[in-house]
Formats: sequence, C-alpha cells, structure tokens
Amino acid sequence: MIERRPSAAAEGDLDLIVVGGGIHGACLTLEAARRGLSTLLLERDDFGGATSWNSLRIIHGGLRYLQRLDLARYRESVAERHWFMRNFPDQISRLTCLMPLHGRGLRRPSVFAAALALDDLLSRGRNRGLPEELALEAGRTLSPRETIEIFPAADSPSLSGAALWNDAFMPHSPRVLIEVLRWAAAAGAQALNYFEVDGLSVDDGNVTGVTATDRETGRRFEFGAPRVVNCAGPWSRELSAALDREVAELFRPILGFNLLLDCPPPTRVAVAVSPPEFDRSYFLVPWRNRLMAGTHYAPWDPERPEPSADAPEVRAFLAGLAAALPGLGLERSEVLRVMWGRLPSRPDDDREVASRAVIRRHADLGGPVGLVSTSGVKYTTARALAETTLAVLFDGDPPPRHASPRPLPARWPSLAEIETADAGNRAVAERLARLASSESVVQLEDLLLRRTDLGLDPSDRERVGDKIARMLSTAPTAEVSP
Ligand SMILES: Cc1cc2nc3c(=O)[nH]c(=O)nc-3n(C[C@H](O)[C@H](O)[C@H](O)COP(=O)(O)OP(=O)(O)OC[C@H]3O[C@@H](n4cnc5c(N)ncnc54)[C@H](O)[C@@H]3O)c2cc1C
Repeated sequence: MIERRPSAAAEGDLDLIVVGGGIHGACLTLEAARRGLSTLLLERDDFGGATSWNSLRIIHGGLRYLQRLDLARYRESVAERHWFMRNFPDQISRLTCLMPLHGRGLRRPSVFAAALALDDLLSRGRNRGLPEELALEAGRTLSPRETIEIFPAADSPSLSGAALWNDAFMPHSPRVLIEVLRWAAAAGAQALNYFEVDGLSVDDGNVTGVTATDRETGRRFEFGAPRVVNCAGPWSRELSAALDREVAELFRPILGFNLLLDCPPPTRVAVAVSPPEFDRSYFLVPWRNRLMAGTHYAPWDPERPEPSADAPEVRAFLAGLAAALPGLGLERSEVLRVMWGRLPSRPDDDREVASRAVIRRHADLGGPVGLVSTSGVKYTTARALAETTLAVLFDGDPPPRHASPRPLPARWPSLAEIETADAGNRAVAERLARLASSESVVQLEDLLLRRTDLGLDPSDRERVGDKIARMLSTAPTAEVSP
C-alpha cells in the first residue's frame, strides 16, 4: 500500500530521503528498503509522470552495445533485463524485433549473424527462472523471402535479409514503476507524491534532512535523514544547485520523443527501420491496435519546451519514417500523442544521448556529507544505478539485502467492464476506488495514466474518463480531484 501520510514521515527516524519519483528514484527506494533502510521518497508531481512515463517501454538487452564491443554495458543490460523479467513477469512481454538489412557495412546479414550468435553465447543464463512464455530464443538472420513473409513492407530490390532477435517490452511501463513502489512500501519505505523539495538542512557540514511543500495543501514539512539522494532526472542539475551547488556534468538536456500513431501495426513484431537521412535506427512497436514509433532525438530548445504533433522535428521524423517505409500509410497517420522527455546528452557531444550515468558525492566537491546527486540514462538500468548509488552512499559497504517478497500485483476493471457497467454496478466503482485509495491517487489522471493505462489512448480516455470520475465520486473510499 502506498500511503500519503506526511506527518508520520516527518515524525519518523529516516535513514535516507530520495528526491524524485521517476524510475531511478523508485528503484533506489526499493533497493534501500530491501536493505532495511528507513527510506522516504518525495515526488513533486505524480510518481513516474515525467520522463519515465514517455519511455518507449523496451527493456533493452544491449545488442547494440555488443555490436560496439562495450561489453560492460552489454552485460549490465542483459542482467537488468533479467531482473525486470524475473520480478515483474505479469508486466513484461517478449518483444520480437526485426531489422530488415540492405547489405551495407555493419548491416550485412553475415555481421548480424555473428553478433546474434555471440549474444546467444554471452547471455546463456538469460532465461533462468523465467516463465516459459517469456523465454527469449536466440536471435537469427532471415532470408529476403522470410523477411517479406513477416513484414511485407520490407520488400525492396536492395533487401538482403533481416536480423530477428528477442527483447523485453513493458506494455504499461508506468505500472511497472508503481509496482516497484508497492514493493518498496511492503519492505517498509514511504513515498509521498505531490511533495516538492526546496531546501536541504545541514548541521556542522552533515546533511540532516530536507524541507518540502505539500502541493495539495501548501503545508511545509521538514523531513529528517542523514542521507539525501537527488534523483530528479532532467531537474537534477537545478535541484543540486538549489540544495548545495551547481554540478555542471549532471545534466545537459537533449530532447527525445516517441509518437503514438493512429496506424494499425503492419506486423506482429517490432520493426527496426533506418531512414537514410537520420543515420540511426528507430523502432515501430505494436501497442494494442496502434503503433509506437521512436525514439527520435533533437536539440533541446528551452523556448519551445513541449513538442506538439506539428513541431518541425515531429513532422520531419514522421516524413523520414514514411519515406523509409512507403506503403504503410505513415505519412497519413494521425499523431495521437507525442511522448517526449529530456535526456542527458554526452559530455563531449550535446546532439547524442549520454551512455553513462553520473553520480556525484557533494562532499567530494566541498559540499555537505550525505548528499549525492545522480542522473541516469535508461529505464532498463535504473536498478543497477540504485545499487551503485547505495555503494557510494555507504563507502562501498551498503547493508545487505533482506528477503522481502513483492506483493501480489494489483488488479483493476478492464475498459470493457467499465464501459458496460451500469449506474447501479457498485462492484466496478468499488474496485477502482480501492485501487485509488491504496496507491496514493490524488488526481484523476494519476489513476487513468499511471496506476492503470485506461487513459493512455486519448480516445479511450474520452470514452471512459468522465464515467470513472463519476464512479469515484460516489464510491465511499475514494478522495480524488477531477
Ligand atoms: C522518448 C523517450 C524514450 C525512451 N525509451 C526508453 C526505452 O525504451 N528503454 C529504456 O530503458 N529507456 C528509455 N528512455 C530513457 C528512460 O525513460 C529515462 O532514462 C528514465 O525514465 C529517466 O528516469 P528518471 O527517474 O531519471 O527521471 P524522471 O522520470 O523525469 O523523474 C524525475 C522526477 O523528479 C521529480 N522532481 C524534480 N524536481 C523535484 C523536486 N524539487 N522535488 C521532488 N521531485 C522532483 C520530477 O517531477 C520527476 O518525476 C527513454 C526516454 C525518452 C525521453
């Protein structure tokens, strides 16, 4: 149960405060709680509502890193994919990916065949303990004919075959984050959404806690703990400056976005395409009866912070995809959502996404003992960063993990059940209300977009949003703002 009880948190003896409830903050809260640390997470908006909400939802096994011979990153990705698949089998599905090949450079079938064989060899333990339906078969290359059978739109005179491999997908990644938090709460952690941290308390050079405002009531609180970790993602640099000092290497933003397209998936697998003018590969991922396409990167323009469907980079990306796959009708498809976020760019190139996380102990920079600032690069590796952060916080010797089983996954009524429930059906309303009250739902959107995926497709949201609001307003256990 994720309870919103700030006074209890302010009165308690805490070991650690985590600022920022994206996937990095959530994983750190879980890893700390599983080690018996009394941990409080503070999130300014709703849990997982910022960058983490906009991920393309792929848990990457790191094939790309293997091709670049970055073996450390490859191994980390394989291990972390396994962690998600093993612990959240109810939230993860297998994602088969197909990359049509045109016989140039590293995109030759022979090069891919070697990479896929090596991937199979180096990730031998990848299916250990997984349910059969999640087991990832070894990748392989396909002939042009086999490729066209799976994906007819790949047909072209230059087609030399395809690479086919398996990865993992979170159809509803915001729910994964909430399940991480439910697990952390079961292990003893507290988590407060709509709480903005604005100050650090320090005594004699040592961190003693933070000050924060409850954005629901305007009330200010002081929370005490000897350790504070800044997990504020795109805001980590600002937060670091507000709490102690500017740490320039923390976060220099680049824009990343995916498009949710009103276009039926052209095939049941995810397709990797490489429009010639973009010099990188993009995934077209089936999502229900729609298509998600991404991730495209562009320079971050603070003057134009929210890219709309009409933004030049969004139009250019769609045109590039349409040109690479003529016949799919992508140029006509409607952009239902631009799912965007800021990511850290590389220290030496602000047009490329950073490949390594940053962790800075402020004491090493002349700041207070106990404050650490972080900035992570992937949903997939968020748990690994949490473990490294704990090692930094405890000088290489964090407390050991206790056995703390994950609670059974929560359930809620389906779209169809909600749509067909008549006014007198209290059972559906009650189930929604129970979910809302046990998972710190404050706004209706928290429930529609982050506890469930009932509102992710804007047309679903239109159909059921008001009805759910009415149901919650009449259910005795819920207190949710419209
Ligand atoms: C378009 C896109 C696609 C992606 N696709 C993938 C993918 O397929 N696979 C993958 O592994 N990764 C992917 N990523 C990367 C991944 O999503 C990010 O690395 C990750 O979500 C970042 O999480 P975070 O916790 O660091 O940041 P966020 O999710 O942004 O969380 C930071 C939180 O800090 C809070 N905060 C800020 N200031 C304060 C304050 N003062 N007080 C309290 N709270 C505060 C914010 O409200 C926010 O919720 C993608 C990223 C993007 C943008």
